[in-house]
Amino acid sequence: KLGNETVKAELGRATWKYFHTVMARFPEKPTEDQKEALRSYIYLFARLYPCGECAEHFMHHLSKYPPQVSSRNAASGWACFVHNEVNAMLGKPEFDCADLGEFYDCGCGGDEEASEG
Ligand code: FAD
Repeated sequence: KLGNETVKAELGRATWKYFHTVMARFPEKPTEDQKEALRSYIYLFARLYPCGECAEHFMHHLSKYPPQVSSRNAASGWACFVHNEVNAMLGKPEFDCADLGEFYDCGCGGDEEASEG
């Protein structure tokens, strides 16, 4: 069966939005358990990503640039960096990670503590 680039790109956009929003909501000062949860999540996310070719590429990026989980800033900056690696591979422009700011807002307001478990 032929691939469908439009569908693949749509899945990519939705996934990146979710992925970066997870990082934007990660605690500023995570516990060891929260760090381990994020690290596991990222490896499983890569392994289970529905586009097999993308998953393979992304796992390669992960082995070169292991997830940074020490803080929200570290995680968001790392995710921006690896997304830029994918952008470069696909010939897309680099995103300025200094512009991340409030770009990925979950719309969930003040429920931060509830989301940190
Ligand atoms: P996207 O790259 O989807 O980005 C969406 C939006 O995020 C952009 O418009 C911009 O506002 C913002 N953004 C861009 N860069 C960053 C950044 N560095 N940090 C934060 N925000 C940013 N496609 C393939 O063809 N081959 C692959 O191997 C492949 N691997 C992928 C691996 C993963 C894990 C994911 C999630 C997607 C992968 N894709 C792959 C899809 C590809 O990355 C794009 O999602 C798709 O091509 C659509 O691109 P886009 O130009 O709309 O922007």
